[in-house]
Amino acid sequence: MTSTTGTLEAQPTLTALDRCDRCGAQAYVRAELASGGILLFCNHHARQLETSLRPKTTQWVDESDRIS
Ligand SMILES: [Zn+2]
Repeated sequence: MTSTTGTLEAQPTLTALDRCDRCGAQAYVRAELASGGILLFCNHHARQLETSLRPKTTQWVDESDRIS
């Protein structure tokens, strides 16, 4: 019998250990820059920087809806 239990390990998600690069609060947004860097932001700074920074990113992953 073959059991294929699908996992989503290919989908990195933010944890409580991920901290905003600006203020050190828990991060809920991961921004992957076109230059290759990755920045993490809390909700506050993500909103503040989204307009200017988002065009420079290849991915803007907002996980703020995961706040429980
Ligand atoms: Zn912050």
